[in-house]
Order: sequence, then C-alpha cells, then structure tokens
Amino acid sequence: MAKSESKPARESVPAGKKAKKVGMEDAARFDFSGARASAEPQAYYDGIKARFAQERDLRLDYRPEGTAQFTSDLTGALAKYEIDPHAEEPTPRTALKDTVEVLFIGGGFSALLTSARLREKGVESIRIVERGADVGGTWYWNRYPGVACDVVSYDYLPLLDELGYVPKDNYAKGPEILAHCQAIARRYDLYDLAVFQTTVTSTVWDESEAVWRVETDRGDEMKARFVVCANGTLSKPKLPRLEGIERFAGHSFHTSRWDYAYTGRDLEDLGDKRVALLGTGASAVQIVPRLAAAAKELYVFQRTPSSVDLKDDRPTDPEWAAGLEPGWQAQRRERALAGGERSSSLAQKLAEIPREERVRRQENANIEYVMKIHAHVEDSVDDPATAEALKPWYMFMCKRPCFDNDYLPAFNRPNVHLVDTRGEGVAEIRPEGPVFEGRVHPVDVLIYATGFEVQKTGIYNRIVGRDGLELEEKYASGIRTLVGIHSHGFPNLFIMGGYQISTLFNLTDVLQVQGDHIAGCIDYARRHGYRSLDATAAAEQGWVDEVIAHRGKTSRNADCTPGYYNFEGEEQRRQDGNYNGSFPRYIAHVDDVLERIEECFRFESD
Ligand code: NDP
Repeated sequence: MAKSESKPARESVPAGKKAKKVGMEDAARFDFSGARASAEPQAYYDGIKARFAQERDLRLDYRPEGTAQFTSDLTGALAKYEIDPHAEEPTPRTALKDTVEVLFIGGGFSALLTSARLREKGVESIRIVERGADVGGTWYWNRYPGVACDVVSYDYLPLLDELGYVPKDNYAKGPEILAHCQAIARRYDLYDLAVFQTTVTSTVWDESEAVWRVETDRGDEMKARFVVCANGTLSKPKLPRLEGIERFAGHSFHTSRWDYAYTGRDLEDLGDKRVALLGTGASAVQIVPRLAAAAKELYVFQRTPSSVDLKDDRPTDPEWAAGLEPGWQAQRRERALAGGERSSSLAQKLAEIPREERVRRQENANIEYVMKIHAHVEDSVDDPATAEALKPWYMFMCKRPCFDNDYLPAFNRPNVHLVDTRGEGVAEIRPEGPVFEGRVHPVDVLIYATGFEVQKTGIYNRIVGRDGLELEEKYASGIRTLVGIHSHGFPNLFIMGGYQISTLFNLTDVLQVQGDHIAGCIDYARRHGYRSLDATAAAEQGWVDEVIAHRGKTSRNADCTPGYYNFEGEEQRRQDGNYNGSFPRYIAHVDDVLERIEECFRFESD
C-alpha cells in the first residue's frame, strides 16, 4: 500500500491543456529516429537502462513461464468468465446446411471492411458467423465504463467515406464504434445471411468439391467456397492461473464481459462495495477513473505500471466536418501511410551516422521520452510514494502505451488504493479477496483486467486443409504463411490479424491492407473461373525467410519487460511473431503477391 488515506480528491487535468507538452500527438512528433544527438551524458542513459534491465529481470524471475502463466481455457469453474452479459441465452434455431461463397469467422472490423470490398466487387453470398449476438467484435464485447479508442477516430473507424459518416469526437467512444459497425453491416446487407451466438468448431477442406465444410456449436454444417478467419487479434479473454481463483466468494468478471446487472448502468450499485481491479493495462487505465468515482473502496493491483500519457480529446469541429470533400478519409490515410516513410533527407542523415551510434541515440531519445512520462506522473499524483510506484521503468513501446487524463489523478482520491506488487503480481485468491505478501484484501467484487490471448486468429477452431493436415499441427514447428494471410495446403482460406504480419498502432490500417488484398484474390479467382487458389510452398518459404531475416535485428524483444508484445518474455521466436520489416515494406509485399498472383498461387479450375 503506497499512500496516505487522507488526501482530498484532486481535479483531473482538463483535456487539451497539458497535451501540448505531453500526449499522443507529442509521442507521434517525438524524434525517436536517432538523427538527434542525445541531450545528456551517456552515463545518465546507461544508469536508466540498467534500472530497466533490473525491472525486467525481476518480472522474469517471478514469472519465468511466459505465456503459460495465463489460461484462456474458460471452461469448468472458469466458464462464467466467458458468458455474454450483453445478450439473452440463444434461442433454438434450425441448423444451416447451405452453401455460401464467402464465410467469415468473426464479425468485427476484419469481416466488415473486407465484406465491403467484396460487395464492391459484386460478391453477393457473404455470411458472417459470430460468437456474439451482433457484429462489432472487440467493440461488441468491451463495454466497460469509459471504453474508447486511443487511435484518432478519423483514422480508426473504417469506411467513413463509404458511409458518409464523421465521428463525433477526436477519439471515438465504444458505443459510437459499435453503432458504426452495425451501420456498416446494414449498409452492405451483411445481416441477411449472418448467424450470431454461433461458434465455428471445425473448418475442413473438401478437395472433391473444392469447398470448406464449416461446422458450429449450433449444429450447422455449411459449405463455403472461401473462408476468412476474422476472429480478431485480441478476442479471447485470458486469466492468470492463480491459486484459488475459482474459490473467490464474492462477485467477479472479466473487463470484456462487464456485468452492469451487478454494478448498475452508471456504476451506482458500487457505492457500498469494495472493488478490486487486477491489472493496469489499457482497459484498466480507462476503467479506474470511473470505478474510483463510484466505488466505496477501490484496490488496484498493479504488477507493471503502464506508461500513461494525456489524451487530447475534443469534439469534432463541425466546420471542419462540413468542409470535408468526398474521399477525405482515403486521402488522409494515403497521406498518413506516405508520411510513415522516411523523407530522403532524414534517411540520408541517418545513413551518415554509424549504426551503433544511431541505435544508442534512438535508445537515449526513448529514455528521454519515458522520463517525460515520469515527470507527468509526479505532476499528477500527490503522494510521492504512489507516484514512484506508478512510474514505468522500460523503453517506450515495450508495452502498449496508454492515454487517459483521469487515470493518474484517480490515485489522489482517498478511496483509491494502489496495491503495488512490484513485479510479482497477485499469486493467490482467497474466498475473501486477492492476497499479496500474505495479506488478504477483502473485497465484494473482483474484476480481471488481465487482457486477451494474442493473435491466435486462425487457429481457434479445428482447421483441416489438404491431405488432412491441421493448421495447428502445421504451425507447431513454426508458423508458416504467405504475408500472414495465406498458408500453403489451405486453399481459399485467408487469415486476418494473425502472425507474421506487420502491425501498427492503428490496427484498422493493417486490416484494411489485408481486406483489400483478400477481396482482390477472391475477385481474381472468380473472374478467371478458378475454384481454388493455394499459396505455393515456394512463395510461402519466401515469406518465412523474409520474416526470419527481419527478426533479431534489435535486442528489443529480449531487453523489454515482459508483456504480450514479446510473448511475456519467452525467448525470441524465429518466425512466430510479427513481421519486423516496416509497415510500408509489408504493404509492398502484400501488393506484390497480388501482382504476381499466378506465380504465388496454384490455381485449380472446375
Ligand atoms: P493487457 O494485456 O494490456 O493488460 C493485462 C494486465 O493484467 C497487465 O497490467 C498485467 O500486468 C496484469 N496482470 C496479469 N497477470 C497479473 C497478475 N498475476 N497480477 C497482477 N496483474 C496481472 O490487457 P488490456 O485488456 O488492458 O488491454 C489489451 C489490449 O487491448 C491493449 O493492449 C490494447 O491493444 C487494446 N485496448 C485498447 C484500448 C484503447 O484503445 N484505449 C483500451 C483497452 C484495450 P503486466 O503488465 O505485469 O503483465
């Protein structure tokens, strides 16, 4: 426990006030390139780097088991953590035995934006099969108080041009994003064939008919010419494997299954409740201020502090919105992606700096940025010990950075208690509440803000390709894909948001690149009368080589404190992570595959 109980609540920092000094825009402008000479003597940076390493080692010593410390097998005693609180129990329906042209597993952004492109190309028979009771994916499930997106809304929300919609604020809130997903589904008639509250259980390639046979937990036995695994990169909630987790006697749930029936719509039922929140990632950062204002007592269990910066949120300027020309979002995206490439003068400047010096400067700049975050914590949190505990000690972007104006000041409230586990984490839950250092913290409700399984899209159900090969079995000796989207031996199957792709802070950009590509492939096969396309083994090998070539370029993964970005500190995987070439390079590769489609795929005709 890191703070005095007697501090008065402090006003939160008004949006936009300090954001000129720190904040997301500041992070975007900050020069991490290595072109700028470091401001301090090297010993200053070396000292901080040594502290970073210490903190990482501490975390690893406590949890050397990497991703195995979590479970997403939410069955048995843990089944309640996956129940959908947003819908009634599904009503019985007749099992489907029909055939569609394109079937999406999952109904989030991936399915929606790819479907839009398919519709533009004249594909009529599109079915979304979705576990939730509506489209929206992440935004269907995550409805916790304060849910919003940290990517500027005009970039994050897909298909704004197509729908003629301008988001209400600089950063869209969850309900607006969900409504936008529903609007897309209506605009492209995606509800017609969609089935909800349905989970795909197996997807098996039928060579004789060149179709996928798709089975679900509702008894469906459908056929689809093309299948797109659009299950999302962070869609399955995970829980830490904690001793006694199933014995907690109070109420508990995961943030992605927020139980408003318990908390009240405006959290009004928490006024007499002691609440524990486990985890301090991006979800927790948005939730804490709301819980702080509503709960009788709030205990925030922290293992590793997030880097929390200001968010310059504001309503959309109506004049600006009124002046937008058709196609504004596409142009904005084009400009942003082009801006991601280094200007030739910067590239030349960087080329003149020896590699070692460049890397040192990049690290030093990163450290300077982290120290700005530290100063911001000191500025926002009254109690010095609490402020100290909330400072992140790792390079910026080792973990997903967070942005919220009210998170840090929430710790100034007398009813908010930071339980800083200093890297160890909670290891045990007793019927009364979580235990740390032998002390039980009795609570009425325990909320797990412990995140999601990462990027396993594509292997959630049993996918069996040519010659009875299971995708999971194929991946067991290392992921093998072509641009992260295709896998040899699995014809007419496309994976979105999986491994071996280049990711960006704005995931929509990645999904759009993939969706355009998939629609292009399907369109090509249809126009040429091909019944199937399968990435060749050679094309796939080329991509695996490319992924490996870009791995290990930096020691970043090994140096970073554990988190889902680096498989919780598991040793550097050769080909199982993301593509570490740049995003422009990834786009070029994806485009190249479409341009050389006859070379990269084996096609079969009827
Ligand atoms: P995260 O995986 O980011 O965070 C999980 C949290 O649980 C971490 O703080 C982790 O600590 C903690 N934890 C795990 N095990 C224990 C333990 N035994 N004891 C104590 N703490 C523990 O999940 P989130 O749901 O917060 O976010 C997932 C992702 O979803 C984000 O990274 C982001 O990509 C996206 N998102 C985006 C939002 C936005 O745009 N604003 C909002 C919410 C989510 P440790 O760090 O030590 O592992």
